[in-house]
Amino acid sequence: MYVVLIGPQGSGKGTQADKLASARGLVKVSTGDLFRAGRTAGTPLGKLVDGYLDKGELVPDDVTLSIVDEQLDAIESGGSHGAVFDGFPRTEGQAAGLEATLRNRGKAIAAVVELDVPEAELVERLAGRRVCSQCGRTFHLTFDPPPSDGLCETCGGAIVQRTDDTEEAIRRRLALYRDQTAPLISYYAAQGLVLRVNGNQSMELVERDIGLALDGLETRKGSE
Ligand code: AMP
Repeated sequence: MYVVLIGPQGSGKGTQADKLASARGLVKVSTGDLFRAGRTAGTPLGKLVDGYLDKGELVPDDVTLSIVDEQLDAIESGGSHGAVFDGFPRTEGQAAGLEATLRNRGKAIAAVVELDVPEAELVERLAGRRVCSQCGRTFHLTFDPPPSDGLCETCGGAIVQRTDDTEEAIRRRLALYRDQTAPLISYYAAQGLVLRVNGNQSMELVERDIGLALDGLETRKGSE
């Protein structure tokens, strides 16, 4: 099963992608995580994407599609049940590229889960977000405050603010989402793939609603 999680920055895609991946035996493919890991490790990919990440700009489609292709190769040889895409595709070019690479592998997108959250809520979530620089665990200054020593309880890593969670970069990223990524929802809706979930509720309820929406889809497909 190949599922796309789509929603603006701060809608909880990363968290929900982790939960969905472990519940359904899927591999999470987060292009943002892959780019950040490359940057931390100082790989050629990391050096290439560094400037884009800092400014909150989109990495070019060909670079993004090539790392997704690598992940799909690894997924196929690892024998898992598929993937959940987090933060990808973000442009029409990426959506077309994903469709083509899946088709070449005899696969297709089963569902596109749209996480719906009002913009004012997103800005608050993103500006207060802090992340562990080592394991990626997220905190929020108000809703889930990090320990006072600034070290992650899970792995001991330093808790930091992402360089693209500044107010200026947040605004740029949300505008890019509106202009480039939101139109993909209509593109996928025309194919009957979109499952809309209210992302403005507790993590547990969002997880439950995603599960119910996907189960409903499987039941519908099973009876066709
Ligand atoms: P994210 O963690 O998904 O918010 O991504 C962080 C940053 O990585 C974005 O602001 C972009 O600079 C880059 N990025 C992640 N995914 C993509 C993508 N699918 N296409 C282009 N750039 C991306």
